[in-house]
Amino acid sequence: MALRQAKMAVLRCAEATGASRWLARTEWRRNKLLILCYHGVSRFDEHHWGSLYISEAIFRRRMEVLREERCNVLPIGEAIERLRDGTLPERAVVITFDDGTHDFFSVSFPILEEFGYPVTLYLTTYYVEFHRPVFDPACSYLLWKGRDTTLRWPEVLDAPVALDAAGRERAAAAIIRYAIARKLSGAGKDDLLASLATRLDIDYQDMCRRRVLQLITPEEATDLARRGVNLEFHTHRHRVYRSREHMFAELEDNRRRLVAYGAREPKHFCYTGGFFLPQHPGFLKEYGIVSATTCFPGLCTAESDLMRLPRLVDTMGLTELEFRGWLRGISAMLPLRRVRQEEGQLVDE
Ligand SMILES: [Zn+2]
Repeated sequence: MALRQAKMAVLRCAEATGASRWLARTEWRRNKLLILCYHGVSRFDEHHWGSLYISEAIFRRRMEVLREERCNVLPIGEAIERLRDGTLPERAVVITFDDGTHDFFSVSFPILEEFGYPVTLYLTTYYVEFHRPVFDPACSYLLWKGRDTTLRWPEVLDAPVALDAAGRERAAAAIIRYAIARKLSGAGKDDLLASLATRLDIDYQDMCRRRVLQLITPEEATDLARRGVNLEFHTHRHRVYRSREHMFAELEDNRRRLVAYGAREPKHFCYTGGFFLPQHPGFLKEYGIVSATTCFPGLCTAESDLMRLPRLVDTMGLTELEFRGWLRGISAMLPLRRVRQEEGQLVDE
């Protein structure tokens, strides 16, 4: 917390003295690329639930700030080429979205279109074809909706769990473990979500009708590709594997669908949950992937490893001053928060 306050003080000072504005116009910044990461833009209350969502007002404001700061928003392919060639324009930025929840189609993309910004959607495809809420985040969202009650579910939980923040995390982990141990199918997991909702007195069918935490459909993906969205790799099942063979099969499952939806030769990848093993960058390169983004904050330079590119995850917790600091480059000079690698997306095969 003290570090955050110190960073804010530096940013305020750099703003007041004109130092951050000056930095934004230097060669130092011109040779760097900022890749922004978003997951969802809220349609209902999702931005109050966790860090995956931001509100529509904040998202719109961020897009305005990009314009105020005269950033050059580039498609990812062009940005990577120019990063390598040393021909980036001033204040280069790439906008990426992960996963492909329905709100990308109904909220975020119309805003991006309005501003004329190119965008990359790293699309995970299993739930594009299975039209139900995505299990892991839906589990966490339902528990949040039921916050401050007590969940009794003897089949799944050893003991009743009070749904405060820590309890919700414990309960989500136990429910996910339960689904994995029983090797539940998509439909089985969906039944489990429906039972959870009933226990928490939440109308699950209504949540499904409103398409909360559901992904876009194949038709919507095709429509987005036609309107210029760059559809790229994020694995089919939102999973990574230890072996080359399984990783290649997973990429191929994802690629086949992206191409069927109208994607033009997907070549860029985003690590699921930001997680990767030491062997993954090599596998991706061998498969023909040109770039892979992480969730480690930072600016990309000509020396960055293209299979481990840093990316700024934008959240409700980031102030406008900090956001501007990233566009101008000064935030990248301040001490950065360590990002933990979560193994949740790894399958032991
Ligand atoms: Zn993801």
